[in-house]
Amino acid sequence: MSIQPFLIGGEWIKGNAVPIESINPATGELNGYVGSASAADVDHAVTNALQAQRQPSWCNMLPHERARLLYRVAELIIERGPQLSAQQMRENGKLLSECSFQAAAAAGAFRYFAGICETMVSEVAPSRGQYLSTVVYEPFGVVAAITPWNSPLTLEAQKVAAAVAAGNAVVLKPSEFTPTLALELGRIFIDAGFPPGILNVVTGSGPEAGLALVQHPDVRMISFTGGTATGRIIAKIAGERLVPTALELGGKSPHIVFADADLDAALDAVVMGIFSSSGQSCIAGSRLFIERSIYDEFLGRVVERTRALRVGPPDAPQSQVASLSSFIHRERVERYVASALKEGGQILVGGKRPDAPELEKGAYYEPTIIAGLPSSATVCQEEIFGPVLCVLPFDGEADLIEQANGTVYGLGCGIWTESFKKAWRVGRAIESGTVWINTYKALSVATPFGGFKDSGIGREKGFYGIRVYQEAKTIYLGLG
Ligand code: NAD
Repeated sequence: MSIQPFLIGGEWIKGNAVPIESINPATGELNGYVGSASAADVDHAVTNALQAQRQPSWCNMLPHERARLLYRVAELIIERGPQLSAQQMRENGKLLSECSFQAAAAAGAFRYFAGICETMVSEVAPSRGQYLSTVVYEPFGVVAAITPWNSPLTLEAQKVAAAVAAGNAVVLKPSEFTPTLALELGRIFIDAGFPPGILNVVTGSGPEAGLALVQHPDVRMISFTGGTATGRIIAKIAGERLVPTALELGGKSPHIVFADADLDAALDAVVMGIFSSSGQSCIAGSRLFIERSIYDEFLGRVVERTRALRVGPPDAPQSQVASLSSFIHRERVERYVASALKEGGQILVGGKRPDAPELEKGAYYEPTIIAGLPSSATVCQEEIFGPVLCVLPFDGEADLIEQANGTVYGLGCGIWTESFKKAWRVGRAIESGTVWINTYKALSVATPFGGFKDSGIGREKGFYGIRVYQEAKTIYLGLG
């Protein structure tokens, strides 16, 4: 059995835990085996990262020199984009077109943080005495980056680019469902000329490799993207260890359509907002709120459009919705749909696996719309992370805001109305890290991203995204 090794200190290592079996969810075929890190392997990775981070060749490297290496990573991602996109598609079943877009975004993240390296400044505070008071920003040392399976290309790039731009060394633990994109990033770091050990990749399970990483005494900062339950486990450990965390967690984003909206544009956005990536997106607009006066008419159009979506293989150009990321995950989605039926919900479209025999071997599930449930129903409260849209009517702004804010999550929100005053009022009242008005899922590396409430702690990306990975240090220089 051939096992793909992982990367520690510039060396490729098979690991001491049970190898990961990587399955293509769109076909059920085996992609291959990937090495799995034990706690001892994780310790080895963190030790290497710490040594590499303290090497004068790295810690004395000037920011504009780090920028050159980051730009080179971006170039290599673009050169290898087709291979990276196809690899992500084979691991999580995402449409190839979406994977290609994400490869370009990953390169963009490296360019953006390279640009920040070249333009960032330290600060001089107005003096209150015979001294010069300055603020400089230091790296933490070793950062642990832990990522989920839905978008490894972009999520891994945005963490690693910012943490390394800030001067840290990183130990990256990708999801066991998508282990190899991080390995490719490790290879790109070596080819770009980064010193060995600045990016280490430990593939392996969450409860073994992931846990060992967050518990390791030399890890000084943890950047995590994944489910809220895992985020809570990590936050408890980090709290005990007094280690800062950035947590990007789950969502149950409201997508709101007022009667005065441009309904054609809203229709496109609502359908794309939930069914792109087969709903496996933290910012999927999974709760659709329609103003009562247009509820029947607009819902009818959403159902009709959803029924026409083409479910198919991720590499077929005509496919609009591909498979789910794993067979286990499809079962979870099916349990949620069953719970909706049990609670009295009505399935307006979908609610089952597709009938097409050519899709039988993959983890496909039809785009599904559920109506007739109150906001308190399980499927309206919990993150399904699949192609399932829950639809609810609302009567006026107060009712809407109460329902929209009535979950533990607060990640994204879409608002469709022609009244900018109403959009502003509602946008300010919604408890959410991002609000889209008359657009949805627009994302830029130049703006902060993160969640309110159980959707997370801290913000990634944006100009200050680099500060997440740095500590402020004040230096007083006596002049008296
Ligand atoms: P998950 O929480 O199961 O796993 C995420 C990562 O954590 C994986 O690498 C896993 O191996 C690791 N892990 C699991 N248990 C661990 C432990 N005890 N200690 C340390 N690491 C551990 O999430 P998932 O199923 O891979 O991803 C889906 C979730 O990610 C959804 O909830 C989604 O909303 C969320 N997500 C959030 C964002 C965001 O930016 N807010 C983006 C994408 C996905």
